Amino acid sequence: MDWAANLESVQERIRTACDRAGRAVDSVALLAVAKTHSADAVQTLAACGVRLFGENKVQEAKAKIPLCSSRLRWHLIGHLQTNKVRDAVALFEMIQSVDSLRLAREINQRAEQAAKQMPILLEVNLAGEASKFGYAPDQLRAELRELNALPRLEIHGLMTVPPWSPVPERVRPYFRQLRELRQQCEDQLGAPLPELSMGMTGDFEVAIEEGATLVRIGTALFGQRTSRPASA
Ligand SMILES: *Cc1c(COP(=O)(O)O)cnc(C)c1O
Repeated sequence: MDWAANLESVQERIRTACDRAGRAVDSVALLAVAKTHSADAVQTLAACGVRLFGENKVQEAKAKIPLCSSRLRWHLIGHLQTNKVRDAVALFEMIQSVDSLRLAREINQRAEQAAKQMPILLEVNLAGEASKFGYAPDQLRAELRELNALPRLEIHGLMTVPPWSPVPERVRPYFRQLRELRQQCEDQLGAPLPELSMGMTGDFEVAIEEGATLVRIGTALFGQRTSRPASA
């Protein structure tokens, strides 16, 4: 697997999408999704200059992160159970998958105990898919003030995993909806929410055209995942 070539190709596609959308290329950050891939694979991409990595399971991250350069930054992008919050607060620079007030309160409490502030994104399930986690937009609007009042949390924006489609254009309406919801949340809070985490291997160019600031890319960088997580 030529990871350096994969990275170059992804970066080129990000640049092209930014040009098309009239956006600065540094307005989009690449998050390399390392789930199921080994620490060696992570280190190879790190040697090419990638600094930001994502994991969807706390357990896997806990085994892998200590084997990687301490200069790397990690985001949690998968559903978080309350009994794993303490580890998540210690391991991750950002938790992108906050999907309930109960979870947010637990993160707030654990961050307090660790004497730190925790940057988070609120995950939104725009299509109401039963197979996915995330806030329904109405529920998010209803709980936003209470979420924002938790003193140890810093809400940086929204994240979504839209319904899968082989045709990226079909996903565009969801990316647009997330951007519009972000605007509504900003109006409600009277504060900016700079991050929109949206776009994966199959659809990140469309996500960039719709305003993504963080694209979460696994397959296009590391190749196909086998079903089983790497033992780090
Ligand atoms: C696995 C995963 C990705 C990356 O998906 P690819 O299609 O491999 O790029 C992005 N976001 C989340 C939440 C994921 O779980």
